[in-house]
Amino acid sequence: MGVQVTPAPVIVLHIAGTGRSGSTLFGSLLGQLGDCFDVGELGYLWDRGLRQDGRCGCGSPVRTCPVWQPILREVFGPAGPSEAEVARLAVLHRATARGRDVATLWLRGRIQSESPEYRDILARLIRAAASVSGRRVVVDSTKPVSYGRLLDDLPGIELRVIHLVRDPRAVAWSWLRHKPGTGADTMSTRPALTTAIMWNLGNLAAMGSWAGDPRRYLLIRYEDLIGDPARWLRAAAALAGVDADELPLVGDSTVKMSPTHTVAGNVARHQSGEIELRLDTEWSRALPRAQRVLVECATYPLRNRYGYGRAR
Ligand SMILES: [Zn+2]
Repeated sequence: MGVQVTPAPVIVLHIAGTGRSGSTLFGSLLGQLGDCFDVGELGYLWDRGLRQDGRCGCGSPVRTCPVWQPILREVFGPAGPSEAEVARLAVLHRATARGRDVATLWLRGRIQSESPEYRDILARLIRAAASVSGRRVVVDSTKPVSYGRLLDDLPGIELRVIHLVRDPRAVAWSWLRHKPGTGADTMSTRPALTTAIMWNLGNLAAMGSWAGDPRRYLLIRYEDLIGDPARWLRAAAALAGVDADELPLVGDSTVKMSPTHTVAGNVARHQSGEIELRLDTEWSRALPRAQRVLVECATYPLRNRYGYGRAR
């Protein structure tokens, strides 16, 4: 009888928080570390990646990407997932993840027990992503927070959470302004008050879910990440237990990006080469005063807790 060797668990580094907080960029940066594979917003693989025939970060359609094709084969067999399977998984994803941030605070275990089928597929998909890419850590930036709860306690997987927050006024401006995109990457718009409410709920849900366990939770402000990327990349790598000897930085604030294999996320995931990190402060000039006051009132006191005071 041979000795049974239990494979080391795959670490999922989940970037949690609310939309337009810079998670696509942070995921791409983390994906440049030798032990990490950035998959982008994995939960949207079914709808945006497969049903809408979206492009992988590398430029190929996800279905025929040289990295994703073997991952999908490992999970679904040589022909990959059928149209019916993809449609069913898209429905399962929407049912567990849409507008559930607020419920996450109270439902906790229920989200998991409601979705055993989807959780099983996610676990197999993440393990296949690690084995095909040869990386120990899979970086997943799917929102909302209720999706992250699905990743808790998956077999063969350990969850680590980076809670990325961004100034709600910058987030509100990002949602108000129309950002051009292509096909599945087109970015929608949202009224400022809705953004403020979602910002509160999403951040409270992230803290309520994981902040009690500092061994697997780290809060990072987007503004701090842009100001000192080396420091925060090292901190995130330490949380995931991976080496950060070689950072993808040339100089203090310029990063060198190799193409990603992300299945969904914003258009920034298609960029590669040298990219200068700069904080976009357009909101401080462009966000109309009435909207700014609305967001400031609606996000108090959490905004202050994160250090986003009024005088910025
Ligand atoms: Zn690809």
